[in-house]
Amino acid sequence: MKQHLIAATLATLISLPALAGKAHEHGAAKLDIAVEPGRLVISLESPLDGLLGFERAPRSAAEKRAVESMVATLKAADTLFRIDPAAQCSLGPVSLASAPLKLGDAKSSADDGHGDLDADFEFTCKSAPAFVEIGLFKAFPRLARLEVQSATSKGQRKQVLVRPAQRVELAR
Ligand SMILES: [Zn+2]
Repeated sequence: MKQHLIAATLATLISLPALAGKAHEHGAAKLDIAVEPGRLVISLESPLDGLLGFERAPRSAAEKRAVESMVATLKAADTLFRIDPAAQCSLGPVSLASAPLKLGDAKSSADDGHGDLDADFEFTCKSAPAFVEIGLFKAFPRLARLEVQSATSKGQRKQVLVRPAQRVELAR
């Protein structure tokens, strides 16, 4: 009986960090890919740590440059994401939001020392792409894992990309 209780307590203790890390886990990010008629929308949600190595407003000149460089990399989304060339996609608006960086229309995050960045990348396409190659691991060395959810007219799919994998097949 006592043995059983200890085992149950241990199980609870072990599962706690996994739960806490679900919303914000350094090194991991979420990517949603939606293929709509004539359009491809990619949405990224990442802890700032994975993109910058810090999660607050930049303090030094070097940190300010790191933020500028991250913004430039994300805005060049047609380089960051290599989309099936047969689909003839071209980059439309890119929107970035991050409360600690005062970027975009971010809702103020809880002041727990952690901060996220949300990005939406829109492309217009002549046909539905069969794949996207994700350049996030190359651009951001601190990222190690991407939880990818893709939705096409054929349905939804979840997969996990682990560095250095970069290709996401899209059902069509
Ligand atoms: Zn964090």
